[in-house]
Amino acid sequence: MSNLEADPGEILCGPGGGGDGEVLEGRAVPLGGPRAMRVTRTLPHVRRRMIGAWCFVDAYGPEQAEMRVAPHPHTGLQTVSWLVAGEVLHRDSLGSLQVIRPGSLNLMTAGRGISHSEESRLGLLHGVQLWVALPEEHRQTEPAFEHHATLPVLSGPGFTATVFLGALCGVRSPATAFSPLVGAEVVVEGEARLPLDPAHEHGLLLLGGEVAPLRPGPLFYLPPGREETRLSGSGRVLLVGGEPFAEEIVMWWNFVGRDHDEIAAFRKEWMEGDGFGVVRGYDGAPLPAPALPGTRLKPRGRLR
Ligand code: MN
Repeated sequence: MSNLEADPGEILCGPGGGGDGEVLEGRAVPLGGPRAMRVTRTLPHVRRRMIGAWCFVDAYGPEQAEMRVAPHPHTGLQTVSWLVAGEVLHRDSLGSLQVIRPGSLNLMTAGRGISHSEESRLGLLHGVQLWVALPEEHRQTEPAFEHHATLPVLSGPGFTATVFLGALCGVRSPATAFSPLVGAEVVVEGEARLPLDPAHEHGLLLLGGEVAPLRPGPLFYLPPGREETRLSGSGRVLLVGGEPFAEEIVMWWNFVGRDHDEIAAFRKEWMEGDGFGVVRGYDGAPLPAPALPGTRLKPRGRLR
């Protein structure tokens, strides 16, 4: 998915609440098109830009929608596509052509640069689009695309977790990860005691059903130091977590970089060069990059 905000330099969102952990309220973002999906973005948040290496959490649906995200570039990150309902067709500049359905993973490693499109027919859509920032030593890696139809499952008291990226309690996804992290879909039935890695910070997002203490919309943040979290009810939860990301990054539009000049060069390459390749088969023009903000983009850490 693409960041289609008109002014992607601004991060606007409401205040959160306190309590046990921290509640990161989402904000609605436009995704373009006449039958566009309504997307709720909980990361980056004004108070918390990352959870581990996870730097972008968009949730959409369930609703009748048509996804049409024209070819656009990425750098310095991985895109993680996870569906609860519907199907989405991915195309990229490597020539990948892959339909994703619920329970399978599309993972695109942008590395030094890639472009892709995503589309669906009008129908029920429900899912999340996540980005993972690549650490310095891997961010220039060759672009790659992976599809995983079979993913490992961790079962425990009151829950079944499908681990799509990283590892949870020793259960490791076959997908390529570049930092210590976890991404999982957790189905809760009853009183769940979900094991966590105390070296990780975590975020929990309710995807469906009723699971206390979560509520629909916000991302619930849990700081490092926890060995488990208790959830109760019946529903579906997204778990993201990882070791706090130590580097400062610049996130602008669909790029992750390290300074303003690098982002400006990525933008120029997309608009004028051919370094992001060509997405073949998408019926429509590529997305133009928005104008850079009037002030220089500043590298930011995980908390500001
Ligand atoms: Mn994208």
